[in-house]
Amino acid sequence: MCGVFGIFGHPEAARLASIGLHALQHRGQESAGIASSPGGEVFLQRAMGHVAQIFDEATLANLPGIMAIGQVRYSTTGASRLRNAQPICLDTSIGSLAVAHNGNLVNAVPLRAKLAAEGALFSSGTDTEVILHLLARQQGSLGERMLAIMPMLQGAYSLLLTDGREVVAVRDPYGYRPLALGFRRDAHGEAWMAASEVPAINLVGGEFVREVEPGEVVVMRQGGIRSLRLAKLPGRKACVFEHVYFARPDSVIFGHTVYETRKRFGAQLAREAPALGAEVVIPVPDSGIAAALGYARESGIPYELGLIRSHYVGRTFIQPTVALREIGVRRKLSPVKEIIAGKSIVVVDDSLVRGTTSRQIIGLLREAGAREIHLRISSPPTAWPCWYGIDTPDRDQLLAANKTLEEIAAFITCDSVGYLSPEGLLQAAGPHDGWCTACFTGEYPEQLLTA
Ligand code: SF4
Repeated sequence: MCGVFGIFGHPEAARLASIGLHALQHRGQESAGIASSPGGEVFLQRAMGHVAQIFDEATLANLPGIMAIGQVRYSTTGASRLRNAQPICLDTSIGSLAVAHNGNLVNAVPLRAKLAAEGALFSSGTDTEVILHLLARQQGSLGERMLAIMPMLQGAYSLLLTDGREVVAVRDPYGYRPLALGFRRDAHGEAWMAASEVPAINLVGGEFVREVEPGEVVVMRQGGIRSLRLAKLPGRKACVFEHVYFARPDSVIFGHTVYETRKRFGAQLAREAPALGAEVVIPVPDSGIAAALGYARESGIPYELGLIRSHYVGRTFIQPTVALREIGVRRKLSPVKEIIAGKSIVVVDDSLVRGTTSRQIIGLLREAGAREIHLRISSPPTAWPCWYGIDTPDRDQLLAANKTLEEIAAFITCDSVGYLSPEGLLQAAGPHDGWCTACFTGEYPEQLLTA
């Protein structure tokens, strides 16, 4: 999973991009990069680490221009290393092209094999680079080239691209991943921008205008924006897991406020999976907070912050190795004994993937003296891997794919486990043209092609 930000029409485009990326840091913490241009040549700075560490005055001084695109990365395709950091920038027959990608192409393997057979040389191990090679083989402006290659791409892509003339924002026909369009006007003039989440636009002084639509190419250039669209669309498949876990709670994703949606998930969970006799509801911070509030209000059980999170440690789920995740839990979460000791508690978390993190959290709560622990998950059992840009393990490592509820409770070492149903999830998610729920249901909109 990744976050992308792009802007056209501001003399400090790279600085604003770095601020926008800072607001998206939760979407990827392995590497960050920005490509900028004053018109023509594209300049690139990228490194492993966090946005605030990478983009200081010296780095920003090497990123001139009125247009910039950037990305924060958590690897799904291609290892966590600098050569796979984004934006990826190539010198092609039509000049420099840079791309920042959120999502995963499901047909990257056959596309890459075909391009390699035709002589293409790749500088990274990512699925994203095939997009640049396909663009270089088309005719027309960058936006027109992008529209032309969209029928060749399958899977999830919210993209930002620049060729030093325009900045292009693109969303795949299913609209798996979010991409918001924003605008700001000041003494420097008018600037258009696009970002994975609305708070990034707000942080740089912009206003949310609308979503980039599924199957749409928005071209930002001198004189304003232009929209190009695919003629035929398959129907939306917005990633419901963005609402469950990934997005910031203050975001508006796919037309719904994430915070309010999570509270509705929690309330529905309380109706579907009550914990009789429980005395206190405790969230796993931060992503379980809103759902736990919803659970507590619906059930009438008092809500307390029984786990305190250190904000100096990153998200455990998106640490790239199991070993790092396990150390991370103890560094990150600290139980409040006065709230927990001797009580029957409901612990609300957003999802249960391998179960190793939850098992550690339950261990912390037992050490703090909890009498009974009832784990409630504000999403359905994650029984299938995601192919569209969220890094879930193979099915054999997914707890819910291989164990009954009783076996899961025994593995996690809690007294009971309860999940939200797929029907309850969609009901609480609210009205929408179409959701992807494949990691919960196994109903994949597009198949993963491995050869
Ligand atoms: S499979 Fe799950 S995580 Fe992946 S896009 Fe679909 S809903 Fe989102």
